[in-house]
Amino acid sequence: MGRMSNTRGGKMRTSSLTCFGVGDGLPCGDRHHASFLYRFGKTLILLDCGEPIDGSFKAGGLGYDLIDSILVSHLHADHIGGFLMLMQGCWLEGRRKDLTVHMPGAAISPVRQMMETALLFDELLKFRLRFAPLKAGRLIRVRDVRITPFPTTHLDGLRARFQKRHRGAFDSYCFLLESGRRRIGHSADLGSPEDLEPLLARPLDLLVCEMAHFTPEEILSRLRGRRIKRIAFVHLARGYWEALPKIRRLAARMLPDIPHTFAKDGAVIQF
Ligand SMILES: [Zn+2]
Repeated sequence: MGRMSNTRGGKMRTSSLTCFGVGDGLPCGDRHHASFLYRFGKTLILLDCGEPIDGSFKAGGLGYDLIDSILVSHLHADHIGGFLMLMQGCWLEGRRKDLTVHMPGAAISPVRQMMETALLFDELLKFRLRFAPLKAGRLIRVRDVRITPFPTTHLDGLRARFQKRHRGAFDSYCFLLESGRRRIGHSADLGSPEDLEPLLARPLDLLVCEMAHFTPEEILSRLRGRRIKRIAFVHLARGYWEALPKIRRLAARMLPDIPHTFAKDGAVIQF
């Protein structure tokens, strides 16, 4: 497993990832849903808002003004289910700092409507809440952090079946996060391992990679020999999570040269 620290409830250092939820899209009795807090020095970015992010955030003792920006990779409930309660938390805990939430553009108006429905009126908030549409390849700057969203094929099947009848947001993104010379890839949900290629075009310091929408062999063979310093596997499909010792042995065999870990909820990974 190399030198990766993966300490539950550990103290966050200057540059770290806190895995608030490593569960997949099924109801999880032992894992929370997708939510990841990236800290680059003083810049904090929350990537996805799966349940129960509000409770995990509060339990982490973090101030509500700390989050600089929120990214929502796509609109499946395991990635946005905790958003309303997090906004209620920002309201009631008295957040004051402006907040931009980046998400697939087609979701912005319905999500605003959800906030209205949940009585989270703009006038109640002591901070300015902005929504911005993610655009493939278009750089987002959050202070000293550069974030590039790349489209994934995760929702392509759903789009083909339903876009004529339903006005959903069928876009889904993975992300490259860069700060100084550090480069972090975050898969969010993929359609196939090939979706990762834009993130792998240059060496990565850390790749946070899902393992739910393909077999472990498929993703491990795609990552084998790539220039990645460390990999944290998250979002394992229930069947793989229940067979974790076997999956660990497979990964050790197929990725002999890349330190990797299978993160649990609460894991803090330094980078
Ligand atoms: Zn998911």
